[in-house]
Amino acid sequence: MTRLPLTLKELGGALFKAFRLRSTPPQPGETLKEWGNRAIGPAVTSKIISTAMLGIYASDASELSATSILGRLFNRNQITVKGKLRGTVSAEGGLGVLLSNLRSHLLSRGVTIQTSCHADSDTVLAARSAGPVILAVSAWQAASILADAAWSPALKLLAEKLSEIESIGLVSLTLFFNSKPPRLGFGTLFSQTPPHGEPDGILGCLQNSEIFEGRVHQSSHAVLHSETWILGGRSRGEVILEHSDDELLKLIFEKRDRLIQSQSHERLVGHDISRWPRAIPFYSTAHEQLLPELDNVVDGTILFGNYLGDLGLASILERTRELSRKVNSI
Ligand SMILES: Cc1cc2nc3c(=O)[nH]c(=O)nc-3n(C[C@H](O)[C@H](O)[C@H](O)COP(=O)(O)OP(=O)(O)OC[C@H]3O[C@@H](n4cnc5c(N)ncnc54)[C@H](O)[C@@H]3O)c2cc1C
Repeated sequence: MTRLPLTLKELGGALFKAFRLRSTPPQPGETLKEWGNRAIGPAVTSKIISTAMLGIYASDASELSATSILGRLFNRNQITVKGKLRGTVSAEGGLGVLLSNLRSHLLSRGVTIQTSCHADSDTVLAARSAGPVILAVSAWQAASILADAAWSPALKLLAEKLSEIESIGLVSLTLFFNSKPPRLGFGTLFSQTPPHGEPDGILGCLQNSEIFEGRVHQSSHAVLHSETWILGGRSRGEVILEHSDDELLKLIFEKRDRLIQSQSHERLVGHDISRWPRAIPFYSTAHEQLLPELDNVVDGTILFGNYLGDLGLASILERTRELSRKVNSI
């Protein structure tokens, strides 16, 4: 494990190319690997860009669309909202607090929130009489809802396009330990490509308790450290999802013992495992071609979700400004 996986020569070459980066935007249909090799060189592409994007998009750079992932950085018309805070920020107490405060705010403004309801094509049809319908579910859930929209051939066609979006399976394990490892930081991204990495499906590890305060609670066992490990991805997702809890812990501890802290098993005081068979959309070059057809208002229905160009929560929130403009323009 290393903080800077480049040699001095590779770093020098990359810095030189970085000055001209703005003039080398990704081309339509170009993969992230092709763009990286062209714009900043193979060393930075394989050792930094590929590994970093694997940690976010859970797919190899040779399959990811450069335009979908980096296009906004080169688009001068892109809306970006400048926040007051800098650096890594979160709601005090975590994302759950953000959601409950958002809910209270909306309720105070007279918004009706229904939970535990299963929307289907009839729900969309009924809601249309009151104005535009925003379908904020995953691509494959939207595909299944709209496939039954017998009253709108255009929406049925949209369902067909949505069903072409592939999903990627992930597993997350949050682990609690009674001691901190010797090397502390934000976390680690693991390459899956030899010789730098191992193709074991372990994509990354975040040291939660080092990133934000209040992520470990004192209990009967002293919990001093928390980590979230993300496994799976495009190539190993299906296999990893089949692993039992014990097999997942064994896989992680073998790597953790070797690279982060010995005797992981003895130090563990608690764990929480989540399996996400259809966790995130696959941002492939085929998906890039579908995007323009999904970003329209079709029969009073607007799609909204992490398959429309923004996977991260911050960018999705930013996109809601564009969404409100779209709704107001109907
Ligand atoms: C393991 C993991 C780690 C991640 N880590 C990060 C991170 O660190 N930072 C970050 O920015 N992003 C992260 N992401 C990505 C981010 O969480 C997602 O991209 C984002 O939550 C997607 O938001 P969304 O609104 O598109 O969809 P969702 O959050 O999936 O929301 C869709 C909602 O629709 C509901 N729904 C579906 N069908 C119906 C129906 N028929 N009727 C009613 N409701 C329905 C679902 O229950 C769901 O609540 C992570 C994702 C995963 C899986």
